[in-house]
Amino acid sequence: MDFNYSAEDEAFRAEVRAWLEGNQQYAPPAREPLDDGSDKDWKARIKWHKKLNEGGWVAVHWPKEYGGRGATVMQRLIYREELARLNLSEPSLGMGIGLLGPTLMHWGTDEQKRRHLPPILRGDEVWCQGYSEPGSGSDLASLKTRADEEGDYFVVNGQKVWTSMAQFADWIFLLVRTDPEAPKHKGISYLLVDMHSPGITVRPLVQMTGGRGFNEVFFEEVRVPKKNLVGEKNNGWQVAITTLMFERSGSGGESAMNQINQLADLARRLPRNGRTAWDDSAVRQKIAKFAAEAYALKYTGYRQLTRQLKGVPPGPEGSMMKLCGTELSLAVAQFAMELLGPYSQFEYNAPFAFDLGKWSLRMLAARGPTIYAGTNQIQRNIIGERVLGLPKG
Ligand SMILES: Cc1cc2nc3c(=O)[nH]c(=O)nc-3n(C[C@H](O)[C@H](O)[C@H](O)COP(=O)(O)OP(=O)(O)OC[C@H]3O[C@@H](n4cnc5c(N)ncnc54)[C@H](O)[C@@H]3O)c2cc1C
Repeated sequence: MDFNYSAEDEAFRAEVRAWLEGNQQYAPPAREPLDDGSDKDWKARIKWHKKLNEGGWVAVHWPKEYGGRGATVMQRLIYREELARLNLSEPSLGMGIGLLGPTLMHWGTDEQKRRHLPPILRGDEVWCQGYSEPGSGSDLASLKTRADEEGDYFVVNGQKVWTSMAQFADWIFLLVRTDPEAPKHKGISYLLVDMHSPGITVRPLVQMTGGRGFNEVFFEEVRVPKKNLVGEKNNGWQVAITTLMFERSGSGGESAMNQINQLADLARRLPRNGRTAWDDSAVRQKIAKFAAEAYALKYTGYRQLTRQLKGVPPGPEGSMMKLCGTELSLAVAQFAMELLGPYSQFEYNAPFAFDLGKWSLRMLAARGPTIYAGTNQIQRNIIGERVLGLPKG
């Protein structure tokens, strides 16, 4: 890894920094993970997305021909560092920018790209991901929602679950079974479905955080034009994997150090035996251990980056990053609860809580990332089999 930035990278950093510093007043307050907020927060997020788009900072990694900046892998990292520096999050209005957009660039028809990429960029079209079903999560290819052909349409029947943001979404990218006789990976297709179509019902699921971020989505005789098929019929598994690769490679370790700095700050304020928790060397050692892990994660991320810069496809390091990053966040949140002791019982946003109760929310919310984008047990399987060469379980 070459730790020096090129002159172009430095110029890119200066440009994004100047823009963010000049416009950060338009950003909504930083959200806690899985704090889905109210409709008011949602409107504020749309406004911020549109502001970023005015400056050309919504999808830096998209190629210029699709309205992005054609940023290199390194520049995307710089962009994330600069956002983290001001405690701003990447623009997120559903899964259009990070997942569907790049998938369409790879697999979509010209018409699909023309129809969907510009409104995604403008923040006028919100997308959600229709993969998981009640009986199909880790074993996704066993999914049962089916689509039958009828003239120029597919007719969809079935149910999805854990569909994040379906309550706000205009569109869903949906995995459906189009050949029930074929081996399970071979009979799946990938459809773009208008969430306003007749026959779609969205029912919210309340998480243990109290948030209503994800949903059950039911499909009854939903008619989807055949031009909304992405890739070939029955080849949807390949398209789905492309989307998943973008999902996993998106999870980086940039925010870990932020959380640890906040934990250290909390320890400095928490009274303990007439002094503060920070005065206890066991507390400092524990926080230092988290910091060492965060740095190990950061440099593992750089190794992954080096592969990408050399044009080598992402390897199983992605699984290591996902596994270690999500478990570190969970451990940090759990240790904050231990430090807080009885104060940890205050709920999020309770007026008398330390830091408005964000640590209890984080402790509950930190479980989610250990489950989505492939559970951590599945990541352990991948590491065991592909990195350590262990026999298949
Ligand atoms: C916050 C959040 C947001 C989500 N958003 C979306 C979304 O927008 N769209 C969407 O489609 N899905 C979404 N999901 C669903 C997510 O993808 C699934 O929860 C995940 O794939 C696991 O599937 P499952 O819940 O059916 O668990 P299961 O697959 O039933 O797994 C249950 C347990 O068994 C373990 N297990 C399963 N198979 C193996 C194995 N082979 N080896 C070892 N252990 C195994 C798992 O690790 C897990 O602990 C979201 C989930 C969460 C938590």
